[in-house]
Amino acid sequence: MTTPPPVVTPRREGRLLIVVCPWCQHEHVHGGGESPGDGDGHRVADCFGDNPGYVIREDRIASQIAEAVARRNRQSEQRAELAAARDRGLAARHQTKLNHPPRT
Ligand SMILES: [Zn+2]
Repeated sequence: MTTPPPVVTPRREGRLLIVVCPWCQHEHVHGGGESPGDGDGHRVADCFGDNPGYVIREDRIASQIAEAVARRNRQSEQRAELAAARDRGLAARHQTKLNHPPRT
């Protein structure tokens, strides 16, 4: 019996590709290289009996969007941290003035 391996669309997390295995329904992690499409190809799934594995075919557009969203989230986290640090700095300066009021 020769069944052609099914095509699966992975989810990219950095340089990793996560697929839901069509044979065992669990997630398998594969190296995905640098760019969307780098990890495409046939993979062996030795999780569930004698199966033909699967073919990874990354959705380049979806991965590019996911990467762009992750990048923007990182940037807004950094901005929030900077704003929090600035607020702490302002509060500290304010506190200093309160502790040392100018002489009259
Ligand atoms: Zn599996």
